[in-house]
Amino acid sequence: MKKNVRMILILFCITSLLSGCALLPFSDDNPFAKQGGKKGEKEVAKIEEDPQSQSEESQEQEDKDQKQKEENKQKEDKEKKDKEAEKEKTVKEQADLLAAMYDYDGAIQLLQSQPDYSSNTELQEAVAGYEATKATCVEYPLEEITHVFYHTLIKDTSKAFDGDSKEAGYNQVMTTIDEFNKITQSMYEKGYVLVSLHDMATFHEDGTVTRGKIMLPPDKKPFVLSQDDVSYYHYMDGDGMASRLVLDENGDVKAEYVEDDGTVSVGDYDLVPLLDTFIDEHPDFSYRGRKGILAMTGYNGVLGYRTDIAYKTGENLSEDQQKFLDQNPDFDYEKEVEEAKKVAEAMKKDGWEFASHTWGHRNATSDSAEKLQEDNEKWENYVAPILGKTDMIVFAFGADIGNWEQYTMDNPKFAYYKSRGYNYFCNVDSSQYWVQITDSYVRQGRRNLDGYRMYYNPEMLSDLFDAKEVFDPARPTPVPEM
Ligand SMILES: [Zn+2]
Repeated sequence: MKKNVRMILILFCITSLLSGCALLPFSDDNPFAKQGGKKGEKEVAKIEEDPQSQSEESQEQEDKDQKQKEENKQKEDKEKKDKEAEKEKTVKEQADLLAAMYDYDGAIQLLQSQPDYSSNTELQEAVAGYEATKATCVEYPLEEITHVFYHTLIKDTSKAFDGDSKEAGYNQVMTTIDEFNKITQSMYEKGYVLVSLHDMATFHEDGTVTRGKIMLPPDKKPFVLSQDDVSYYHYMDGDGMASRLVLDENGDVKAEYVEDDGTVSVGDYDLVPLLDTFIDEHPDFSYRGRKGILAMTGYNGVLGYRTDIAYKTGENLSEDQQKFLDQNPDFDYEKEVEEAKKVAEAMKKDGWEFASHTWGHRNATSDSAEKLQEDNEKWENYVAPILGKTDMIVFAFGADIGNWEQYTMDNPKFAYYKSRGYNYFCNVDSSQYWVQITDSYVRQGRRNLDGYRMYYNPEMLSDLFDAKEVFDPARPTPVPEM
């Protein structure tokens, strides 16, 4: 009986070992069981390797194929999902950008137009967020909007301030790149947001006008920015400023700068590319994509391109124009016009606008209405075909066609400009804001942010920046008096 039990246990043990069970109470003190166990293990191993190997291999191959197929499908699905996620991210990013630029309705519309909007809680939450921010916005009083302006920025102060006859003028009315960057950063920190004259009023075909409605969060303040004389006039050659605006390989507007050795660098060497870059990094500095307004003459061409008719006809050339043509025997007028158009097109697409600064940098206060008409016809004929028609005029020298009282149709200069489609007029005024909006025009004063103002009236700029911190130490002082 005892022997039988032992045998049963042994058999059980072997069976158990063969079937993989390791829980054997007596196995340690049973040499046979141990041995049998080992043998069993080997046998198990053999069974796994040998008898079925043929069919196993083909099975394995099938499994592998199947696995590969599944992996491929999973990969495809993942790629598809990633693509969808990316598309969604792009849409969400686009909406975020619109909202950052205060176009909450545009952001909401974009997300709500997505086919999966009703089931996508992420998009719904984003819309709720935009709506909450939109609800905090207040209407900014149009008559309190400030307007600041610059000329071409100085890249190399050692060349602008080199003691030649032009140094005093540059020191008075120009701003260095370093100063511009500091001013822009300060204005951004103070909550300034770029708007356009076109946001202040809309003039309709039937002659009526609608006042604008600028809605911003309560800690934000709109301002208009303009840059005058972006022609890169011949007289500025070699004085440390950019030479023209160009499109880089990405289609972005950049400035060219001619180095000492004659090589040409391309970069953020003037206001347009500098501000583009700043707004790329701080989209909330721009109201719905607005950039600045460039006040353009035509007599030396535009944007650094020698597009005036004189370069084609060779008639009435100034000394520096003649010199330019002599130095550039391969000059191709048509190509020049084409290139300028491309740059202007890209700028307008990107939020920039163009205004007339009169074709010949005329003094509109002292010039007669007839003279101004003659001048404006040149702007229409030789500048508008490149930059496009404009309804804005930024008076050269700040020389207005009237005093502070409202323009009337009795003013022949106003009557003429109005008849040519001008609705927005800008002079120069050092007060914080000076705005007139009537049923026939918008007029705004502009503040010069230049060496003269910073040196003599820093307190008049304190709402924008601290002139002591901004003033470029490379400027010779005192800044010459006007
Ligand atoms: Zn000017």
